[in-house]
Amino acid sequence: MTTIHNLGFPRIGARRELKFALESYWKGDTARAALKDLGAQLRQRHWHDQSGLDWVPVGDFSFYDQVLDMSFTLGNLPERVQGFEGDALDNYFRVARGRSATADKDHAHCCGGVAAGEMTKWFDTNYHYIVPEFTAATTFKLDAARLLAQLAEAQAQGVKAKPVIIGPVTYLAIGKAKDESDRLALLDRLLPVYVELLEVLAARGVEWVQVDEPILVTELDGRWQQVLETAYQYLQGARVKLLLATYFGQLLENAALAARLPVAGLHVDAINDRDGVLPLIELLPVQTVLSLGVINGRNIWKTDLTAVLDWIEPLAQRLGERLWLAPSCSLLHVPVDLDSEQGLDAEVKSWLAFALQKLDELRVLGTALREGRAAVQAALAANAAALAARRSSPRVNNPAVQAAVARISADLGRRTSPYAERAPIQAALLKLPRYPTTTIGSFPQTSEIRQARRDFKAGRLDAAGYQTAMRSQIEYSVREQEKLGLDVLVHGEAERNDMVEYFGEQLEGYVFSQFGWVQSYGSRCVKPPILFGDISRPKPMTVAWIRYAQSLTDKPMKGMLTGPVTILNWSFVRDDQPRARSCRQLALAIREEVLDLERAGVRLIQIDEAALREGLPLRKSQWQDYLDWAIESFRISANGVTDQTQIHTHMCYSEFNDIIASIAEMDADVITIETSRSDMELLEAFETFHYPNQIGPGVYDIHSPNIPTQDHIVRMMQKAAERIPAERLWVNPDCGLKTRQWAEVIPALDAMVSAAKVLRAAA
Ligand code: GLN
Ligand code: ZN
Repeated sequence: MTTIHNLGFPRIGARRELKFALESYWKGDTARAALKDLGAQLRQRHWHDQSGLDWVPVGDFSFYDQVLDMSFTLGNLPERVQGFEGDALDNYFRVARGRSATADKDHAHCCGGVAAGEMTKWFDTNYHYIVPEFTAATTFKLDAARLLAQLAEAQAQGVKAKPVIIGPVTYLAIGKAKDESDRLALLDRLLPVYVELLEVLAARGVEWVQVDEPILVTELDGRWQQVLETAYQYLQGARVKLLLATYFGQLLENAALAARLPVAGLHVDAINDRDGVLPLIELLPVQTVLSLGVINGRNIWKTDLTAVLDWIEPLAQRLGERLWLAPSCSLLHVPVDLDSEQGLDAEVKSWLAFALQKLDELRVLGTALREGRAAVQAALAANAAALAARRSSPRVNNPAVQAAVARISADLGRRTSPYAERAPIQAALLKLPRYPTTTIGSFPQTSEIRQARRDFKAGRLDAAGYQTAMRSQIEYSVREQEKLGLDVLVHGEAERNDMVEYFGEQLEGYVFSQFGWVQSYGSRCVKPPILFGDISRPKPMTVAWIRYAQSLTDKPMKGMLTGPVTILNWSFVRDDQPRARSCRQLALAIREEVLDLERAGVRLIQIDEAALREGLPLRKSQWQDYLDWAIESFRISANGVTDQTQIHTHMCYSEFNDIIASIAEMDADVITIETSRSDMELLEAFETFHYPNQIGPGVYDIHSPNIPTQDHIVRMMQKAAERIPAERLWVNPDCGLKTRQWAEVIPALDAMVSAAKVLRAAA
């Protein structure tokens, strides 16, 4: 009989209860006991939601981050918080947030603060974890209190508990040695603590422990492969059975290694690695459990249950008890409950499944395998009908868009003339000084702006009233920029709630959920728009705002768009066509907008690709394929303009070395990037590559409230000029200013503009 189980459940709550409880606790508005109670309630509810499964994850609940939980379980606390006397949860929040656990008032930088743990993306998801810190002196010491308490709770509630932990190799691999020491050297100290942990779990009657090793879907060098062998041989004697969980991709060259690790079960992502399953079965020892992740834990679409059954029924015959079924990965990466959605387009809703619905699908598959398809006939029929409706829906299929994508040729992505010929034409038209100053797009999203948007959405403010309110914000920002003396102005993005949602709302092929929140880090959630159909642009999206802004000033106004790759990467995307095709459709829609802006007389157009880098596949061997279509999409969106129009792009991250050739291929006339925190170091990539076009290296960090001095900016730009010829440099902040206050923005930009004057005078 097939076993069904789950790898992890979203902990934030269907209504983001955990977010609000955390934030209220941090503010000092609620007691610690109330927060802990809410945690217990959420766990109880979520275990209940998973009833009917043969194994239910325990320990996946976290007040902030499962990796930080693991660091605490292993006693690997950064030195700076080791002497802490208070409550363990408070200490945990200190590592997570870099300040005392409660009372946001006592600021990290003046009193009682500690540096926050560094955060980075969890594999290729939009979830961010707190990076484990190591030094040569790191030791480990088991603290299983949190996990055992959750286990006891689960057992008391009759839950078939399968504790979930992060495996030792992934734990080491995703951490960072602060002193550049070799973190693999810590393995000998780490493994005994894992053994101890498995032992205490065995003593509590645990049968299976899920050990997450997603590192197995990445490229591993010989040393890391050896570490996997060593680690699992070491853990082999444990009195619990280990289910080694891999997810987010394909095992490929690691399949043989994964199959020979001495564990009782192996979970694989059968969404991403379906082709790997049959060969893997050949490699697996005959007693090893094979758990197939057949329901996509990363998207919001219904599973084609009949197709899955057609595929796995023969496997079930062959594997018998050894076959387990699960979602492909933890459901952490999907929203909780589709039934919460009351406003969602009914037709599209009938095609979707959030975490709870995915568990229902899993139950249907389990029953079908155990009792035959007839036992779940109605569910299968309903599922098939929904999928058929989706496949044939005219809302999904737009023949005109499909034809336009089919017609895409290389010409579409090519500028009329090369950069060297366009640049003087643009310079003659724009007449900008050396070291031209500009900003990245957004100005502060003030409380007035947010209030007006809320009133508009709630119907308290009509469209005309909303437009007036936004226009007055735009006018304010234009006047401030003129006073500051910036060279290229922006309209300030007052009308945009979010750089992707704003465009998604105006494109055909998108819907928006009300409660489709997914945890991004700690208490922060994002609500990705749902891209469900062929993308088209019924009418211009930004032209009226930009034209209005331009009408207020003689200075050049830069049009501001989000690029196709970023829109794609920050959305839930279709599973019925390759991402590349959805991206090309977005590219065509943005291209129309670019051309409309150009027709409206806009001379500079910025197309933000903030999320280009994060779309890179986990395996480097697959990077080029992604970069090819991503860069092609950007080029399609941008390069239909005449030589006179200057295309800008913006990317807010600081690693370009390994993708610089693709960045150059984008052929934007100007690229603005984040550089201030790396002290202009990252320009080295542009220098070494002989990057030919113009660059605006960010001169100050917009994440900090600190006001940069003129001297600091001058020094930064002088460093930049050592690497990039001054005539190709722009002066701008690292990123948009929407999270700042005007009181911070004005002095900062004032320093920036005067720094540019100093630089010009010196030239
Ligand atoms: N134009 C956007 C802004 O200024 C860019 C934001 C981003 O790159 N994340 O807000
Ligand atoms: Zn940015």
